[in-house]
Amino acid sequence: MKKILFLDRDGVLIHEPADEQIDSLEKLSFLPGLFTNLHDIATKLDYLLVMVTNQDGLGTSSFPEATFWPAHQLLINSLQGEGIEFEAIHIDRSFEHEQSPHRKPRTGMLTKYMNGSFDLENSIVVGDRLTDMMLAQNLGCKGIRIDGKGDIPENLKEVIALDAKSWSEIKKYLFTLDRKAKCIRNTSETKISGAINLDGIGSCEIHTGLGFFDHMLEQIAKHAQVDLFLQAKGDLHIDEHHTVEDTAIVLGMLFDEALGKRQASRDMDLLCQWMKQKRKY
Ligand SMILES: [Mg+2]
Repeated sequence: MKKILFLDRDGVLIHEPADEQIDSLEKLSFLPGLFTNLHDIATKLDYLLVMVTNQDGLGTSSFPEATFWPAHQLLINSLQGEGIEFEAIHIDRSFEHEQSPHRKPRTGMLTKYMNGSFDLENSIVVGDRLTDMMLAQNLGCKGIRIDGKGDIPENLKEVIALDAKSWSEIKKYLFTLDRKAKCIRNTSETKISGAINLDGIGSCEIHTGLGFFDHMLEQIAKHAQVDLFLQAKGDLHIDEHHTVEDTAIVLGMLFDEALGKRQASRDMDLLCQWMKQKRKY
């Protein structure tokens, strides 16, 4: 199931002015580190990006459409230019006093994500206000507050996974959170369970019943600085090959899941060029 990063707009992607209304290009300015960090999150982690924003009175005389869209479209185009694409953009236009079911922190605009086909438990709302964190609570996700003002009330402490000051802090947190995997693989010949954390410290616990093989696998964990746990029970009474082969399969599956989206193909091209050059010597 897909995880979602629900992103607030004002105060998260762009600075929110004192009048809380971005109705001209002059008022548009991006949060520091937004492009670099959100690019890495969008292209290297497995989140769908969904924007959720309240724009009070959009389309009324207090906030005419024509003053909203140029700045909004410039934001979207600028992000797209850096490979940051939104799966959907949800804009509520009501005023707070109208108590619309679509207005954050209520979930009326987001019901399609609540039908059990998305991994909400591992999804995250990123916002600057407590109403964003309440939205996270209402969706059953976690929240990340960025540049938030004021204390966090007791009832939201469980919801807020990170109270961040910058986008680089958010990226660091999401990468640490994400690049982990667990796997269980049982066949008639072997029963193997494993776990990996690519952002670990090289700690490992490996028991395959084959001392030398355990030692070799420990070298991968220690020298790659990944945490690796492997427990294998195989048909060693026949020979070692099923245990060794199936453990390697599980190790590959763990890396595959933990890596999520791969680096951009440009990075792979550079690696191939480097390998071709190496072969000349
Ligand atoms: Mg906001």
